[in-house]
Amino acid sequence: MLFYKILEKAKEDNSLSKEEIIELLDSKDNSIYNAADEIRKKTKGDNIHLRALIEFTNFCHCNCFYCGLRYDNHKIKRYRLKEDDILLSVDNAIKSNYKTIVLQGGEDMFWSKEKICNLIKKIKEYDVALTLSIGERPKDEYKAFKDAGADRFLLRIETTDKTLYRKLHPNMSFENRLRCLKDLKKLGFETGTGCLVGLPNQTIDSLADDILFFKELNADMVGIGPFIPHPNTPLANEKKDNFDLSLRVMAITRLLLPDINIPATTAMETLRENGQIIALQSGANVIMPNFTSPEHKNKYEIYPNKVYSNNCINNISEKIKKIGRNISNSKGYRTDPTKL
Ligand code: SF4
Repeated sequence: MLFYKILEKAKEDNSLSKEEIIELLDSKDNSIYNAADEIRKKTKGDNIHLRALIEFTNFCHCNCFYCGLRYDNHKIKRYRLKEDDILLSVDNAIKSNYKTIVLQGGEDMFWSKEKICNLIKKIKEYDVALTLSIGERPKDEYKAFKDAGADRFLLRIETTDKTLYRKLHPNMSFENRLRCLKDLKKLGFETGTGCLVGLPNQTIDSLADDILFFKELNADMVGIGPFIPHPNTPLANEKKDNFDLSLRVMAITRLLLPDINIPATTAMETLRENGQIIALQSGANVIMPNFTSPEHKNKYEIYPNKVYSNNCINNISEKIKKIGRNISNSKGYRTDPTKL
């Protein structure tokens, strides 16, 4: 059967044509998840990397149609953590044995190049890897962040369908997004990207392009998020169960990029009970528990009803052990720098 032939080819060559990806996306055959899990085990082993996520500002000057942090959502209570509070969360994560800190925020220009660089230097006094997820910035700022010690940067492309991108991102430019990702790669960041799955007017064809884009960029991390409509956005009434398709996009990404880091996203857990565990058994190898202080994390509402069930390390370890996996003790680079 064509499906199995393509699956075998993906496992052997880690390469597929657009038509072949579409065939895998269109099928309902679940053996794709086992294939992705097999590749994950071969390339990444059974270790799961935990990244401590700190959402340090929910101010954003952008107006992305799908996001609860968008500028025009006046119902949200905005917050900006003080540096000391951020460092307190970092300290908590370190004490819980986390090896990576992820600083995530909206596009908040209060956090100037200088402020971010100071923060990076303070966090890097600890023995941790640092990931930034703070949106589009000029190249000189990315360079300053790298020089200050940041290791990784996450910037999802969201969709490679240019027409859809323009519709969903008023006053933003697809070309600038690409420029950012290319700059980040050139500057030596471990570069993460990813897409939303299930956006209105998104096609299977464009999801196949997204996967090919991850491959072409040679992304070091890819996060796949099922689209979940937020009530205070223009997409409030759109369809919401995009779990299965997201899982398929994630599994194919693992087949084509066997050694990258792939998170089991919180959005997957929000849509389906045990969604993150299902994702970990379908190609993912990373979880990002939330270390934002309790009074703020509910205000970082990109989509509604975010679950935090996996925040407690005991809770996560138990679930991870049950599926025969371990929590890693390393910083979890795509390629272990000590082996370069
Ligand atoms: S998706 Fe990111 S850039 Fe867009 S509104 Fe939300 S926080 Fe801002």
